[in-house]
Parts: sequence; structure tokens; C-alpha cells
Amino acid sequence: MSALTFDNRFLRDLPGDPDLSNEIRQVHGACWSAVMPTPVAAPGLLAHSPETAALLDLTVGELQSPALLAALAGNTLLPGMQAYATCYGGHQFGHWAGQLGDGRAIGLGEVVNRAGQRWELQLKGAGPTPYSRRADGRAVLRSSIREFLCSEAMHHLGVPTTRALSLVSTGEAVRRDMFYDGNAANEPGAIVCRVAPSFTRFGHFEILAARGDGALLRQLVEFTMHRDFNDPARHQDFDERLAAWFADVCSRTALMVVHWMRVGFVHGVMNTDNMSILGLTIDYGPYGWVDNFDPGWTPNTTDAAGKRYCFGRQPEIARWNLERLADALGLLTADTSALSAALDAFDETYGRAASRMYAQKFGLACLQDDDAALINAIFDLMHEAEIDMTVFFRQLAQVDPAAPAPGLFVEAFYRADLYAQFAPAFAAWLQRYTVRLQQEAASPNARQAAMNRINPCYVLRNYLAQQAIESAEQGDPGHIAALLDVLRHPYDEQPGRAAFSAKRPDWARHKAGCSMLSCSS
Ligand code: AMP
Ligand code: MG
Repeated sequence: MSALTFDNRFLRDLPGDPDLSNEIRQVHGACWSAVMPTPVAAPGLLAHSPETAALLDLTVGELQSPALLAALAGNTLLPGMQAYATCYGGHQFGHWAGQLGDGRAIGLGEVVNRAGQRWELQLKGAGPTPYSRRADGRAVLRSSIREFLCSEAMHHLGVPTTRALSLVSTGEAVRRDMFYDGNAANEPGAIVCRVAPSFTRFGHFEILAARGDGALLRQLVEFTMHRDFNDPARHQDFDERLAAWFADVCSRTALMVVHWMRVGFVHGVMNTDNMSILGLTIDYGPYGWVDNFDPGWTPNTTDAAGKRYCFGRQPEIARWNLERLADALGLLTADTSALSAALDAFDETYGRAASRMYAQKFGLACLQDDDAALINAIFDLMHEAEIDMTVFFRQLAQVDPAAPAPGLFVEAFYRADLYAQFAPAFAAWLQRYTVRLQQEAASPNARQAAMNRINPCYVLRNYLAQQAIESAEQGDPGHIAALLDVLRHPYDEQPGRAAFSAKRPDWARHKAGCSMLSCSS
């Protein structure tokens, strides 16, 4: 087996917790605690990502070897691996929640691949840690399948994300009350091995600031600048570097959210502990994909009343989260105005990138003054008429400006009564749109090709993930790989796979797991 090369800088350069017990506690003055994964009874490799394996220079044969499988299940450590859980806090649903930390994630160290890239490995669901609070440190199969598939699907869509190497069944049951109604049941357990350049979250900085530990906060900031941002301005004064780095974090976060809005992804739990410092989508829990276009839609049942984390509010919440990070970093500088100014980088980057993204979605070279009204008009109509977002944009690419077909969008409607009601409004809008298209230089074919490179044909619709989960729970994990195979080329129409691009079937409209997701995972 090829030996993975480890260089565990997070552990080497940042202070660890001297307490080596695995007891629940508040951890002060340290960024991590050493903790071993808890072995599981009967590991089985249910699915893997060859692309993520390649990042680690692992062949699929190596990935399937007994030694690696044992490591991916938390039953052994390979040479160079060190097991640890990190300390972070977070604002949950708008309120400071104190210490959270890796309650069921255990880091295994940092692989340096042959190209010199650094990849942290992290097992999710590998057993309790000092940060597990009242929970068991485990993850159920259904949520692990969702994390595995979505991490890789997002990557293939071009959305910044943490990756998933493997999905391993544990052979053990996990007890969960999925609907929080007192009916707990045993479910199969699983472990995902996640891979990312860094798993550092906003909450890692917030917890240190909340505790007034400026020295360690500064150390973590310096560490992050060096390891994760290869700090281009080492010589400048610290305040300037801090502001420049924070502006970079703001820009990355903005770009990530622009991608979410482009593909119709709703994270579902944008707490500050679920925000990656690198602007990667992280922590796939009760996330969802927009079927019928609705800016107010949230997949998370816990958020159903407040809709804090609904589709349309994601940009605003991302900024709010960055403000909380700025509050934390404020401990390091006498002049916080530079941090506030850096927050403008978020608005600027978001504004610019979103405008470019919407132009591309609609097949326009760039947005002109009147285009906002044109776009808002169709978004309002799509909402009212319950139009499938993904199907709509693939249909839109087919518009022939010389002869717009009024029935073009029929496939995107969920309801015949709404089609009857709204068809004339769509036809009228289509007229406006084709007039606008006549100002564009690109040929219809070129426009269609460009639109189909940005508007996906295949996304991980909630019900598709649920179907793969149900077959896996019944003993057939093959659908996971089959679905991932489709999602590997989300922009290319794939012959024989029309079922995967079709809009949500009626039976899935109100089914748990297909339209509403519980946080219980
Ligand atoms: P989440 O909402 O999944 O991002 O989790 C919020 C916090 O709860 C994090 O600190 C997690 O580590 C912790 N957590 C969630 N589920 C579990 C679990 N089953 N066991 C231990 N900690 C958990
Ligand atoms: Mg989390």
C-alpha cells in the first residue's frame, strides 16, 4: 500500500489540551484535544470517491485495502496519523452558544500529497470526544449518505466545498429520534471521511475571543494566514495583514454563497460554527435543493418557523456571520474600523459576482440597467407559479429568439392549474426576454452552450438522495455510486438518465427526507 505522508501542523504549531481523558469538559488555552476514535464492530466500505482518493495519491485498490478501511472506520491509526478533536464555539440561530467543538468529528492529520498539497482528513461519526456534550459522537447512515453525496456533487458543480473520501458502515446501530416526537429508533451507523485543506471554522476564532484569550487568538490567526492562506504580506504591520486577510475571508464567503444561489442549494444551518474560514461549504446536515423556486424555502424543520436560513436569506446571513467573526477579531486590534471596512469586501464581491452569475444564468454578456426588473419579474412569476428552478433554466437556454415557443416552460410547472393560470404571463415575459436577447452578440447556439455550462441539468434533488438512502438501508448501497456517477457531469445531458433530471415527483412533495429534513443525524 502506498504510504500516506503526514505533516500534522495543526497539532504541532497550536497548543493542545493537556488533559488526555475522553471526558466532556470546557477546554481552555488549547485548540485541540487528543482523542482516539472508538472502534466499530464491522466496517464495510459502502461508497468512495475516486477523485478525492486521487487528491491523496491513493488508488481505488489502496482505498479498499483492509488497513485503510480499518483507519476509515476509526479502528486503527495508520503510521503518521494522530487523532484529535478541535475546540470551537459558535452563534447558533443568532445566539452565542458557547463551546461546541468537534463533538463527533475526529481529525486524523494532514496528508501532504506528491504535488505538495496539504489535505486534512477527518472522520465524522467516529465516536465521542471531549466536545460531545450530551450526544453520542455517532452519525446515522442516512445523514452520512447525504454528506458523502452532496460534498462530491458540489465539487463537480464547481462549488467550493469540503470533500468526501469514503462512506463506511459501522455494523452498529445508532439511536435517533428523527422527528423529535419521543419515538427514538435504532438506525444503521456510518462514518464519512471528509477531506479539506482546512476544517477551521469561524467558531474556532470566536471561542477564543469569547474567553478573552487574545494571545491564542492571535496565534491561531497567524497560523491560519500561514498554513491556509500562504500569507503574501508577512512583513506588513499586523493590523494591515489582519484586515487584508479578513477581507479575503469575506470575499471567499461571498463567492461561495453566489454559487449556492446559482445552483439552488440551501445549507439549512448557517450557524457560525458551520462556516469555513476558507469559504468552503461545510457540514452537510439538513441541507436541501430548491425544486419549486421559493426564496423563503428552508429544508430544516428546526428553522421552519423562523426561516432564518431559507434560500433567499443566505447572502444576508453570510454577512451576519462575518460580522460575528469581525467582532472576534476585533480583540486583536485597537482600530476595528479596518475590519468594518473589510466587511465591505463582502458586499462588493457579492454584488459583482452575483450580477455576473445572474447574467450568465440568463445568457446575457452582462446585466444592463433594465435587466434587474426583467429578472425580478421572472423570479416573482416562478415563485407564484411554483416553477422548478433547475428545469426552468435548462429550458430557458433553448429559447429561439426568432420564434419563442410559448409552451417552452411547460415541463417546469408542478401544477396544471397554475400552468393554466400563469401561461400567458410566462409568454409575455418570454417576449420581453427575446427582445432583450436581440441585443446580444452571441449566436443562439453559443448562448445555449454557455448557459448549459452554468445552469446544471442534474442536482442532488432531495428525493434522489432519499431514494439512495432507502435502498442502502435495505442493504443495497449500489444506488449511491450510481447517483454519484450522474452527478459527476452535472452540466452534460446524459443519454438514458432523464429520470435524474426530472422535477420532483408528486409523492415526494411532503415526504420526510424529500422536502423537510430534521437536524437529527
Ligand atoms: P451541527 O448542527 O451538526 O453543525 O452540530 C453542532 C454541534 O453539535 C457540533 O459541535 C457537533 O459536533 C455537535 N454534534 C452534533 N451531533 C452530535 C453527535 N451525534 N454527537 C456529538 N456531538 C454532536
Ligand atoms: Mg456543525
